[in-house]
Amino acid sequence: MAANRKSAPRRSVRTAGKLKKLYRRWRSDRDALSDALWSKALRTSPYARAMPKNDQTRLRQLTRQLLRAKSFEGTSGFAVNESMRARIALHAGIPILNLGLDYYADWSSIVIYPGDFRVHDEYMDEHGVVHREIMDLCGQSLSQGPIVLSWEAMREEDETPADHDLVIHECAHKLDLLNGDANGFPPLHPDMDARAWAHDFHAAYRQLCSEPDARGARRIDPYAAEDPAEFFAVTSEAFFTAPYLVYENHPAVYKQLQRFYRQDPHPIMTQR
Ligand SMILES: [Zn+2]
Repeated sequence: MAANRKSAPRRSVRTAGKLKKLYRRWRSDRDALSDALWSKALRTSPYARAMPKNDQTRLRQLTRQLLRAKSFEGTSGFAVNESMRARIALHAGIPILNLGLDYYADWSSIVIYPGDFRVHDEYMDEHGVVHREIMDLCGQSLSQGPIVLSWEAMREEDETPADHDLVIHECAHKLDLLNGDANGFPPLHPDMDARAWAHDFHAAYRQLCSEPDARGARRIDPYAAEDPAEFFAVTSEAFFTAPYLVYENHPAVYKQLQRFYRQDPHPIMTQR
């Protein structure tokens, strides 16, 4: 009996400590994403603004979790403020709204340059010849590292919303990398058919490559023809920014993305 009386207070002290910790976390989460910061970030995503209120509430919670789980580091002298962090975290949350934070468990940081950044790439072709090239990029997903972004590119997207979303594009590459190389084939859900995915994406990719000059307002970005990995990333960003482009040009791909992301942005964006 005495042991019970002694152990009871210890348990409650532990519980009190745990509650205090949870309260502190709740306070810091709330402070990291105030109503003002959330409203400002929401203005940068027409899809997030148009989604049902309960989805928006879940996205806000996910944005808070991303702000806590990932580091947001400026580089080349660039200072990242809290509204930039909130904006990036909100966009990163969109693809995994119905997948969960674990889909981003393989990486922990987002590096932000003030503008485009230069990378030195080196690769070996099928003949064993090593190629070196210098590229200026606005975004990059490193298979064993961070997501790298240009703030200037994101600022331009916010000024003129179209079918581009750099954060979603790079996050789509990260999802693609979950099961090996970036090849436009992310890990599918058990109720999805891998052969149907390969068939539908391959057919749409071939269609896009066969009409390289078919540019226009109702086409997806021709950069998608670069390779199957870019096709998946570009159709993913269009799926969440201008879903009609995927829906009209590549309906079978739209259905596959709908099954993979477990979201259906087209009717939501059409009813705005
Ligand atoms: Zn890409």
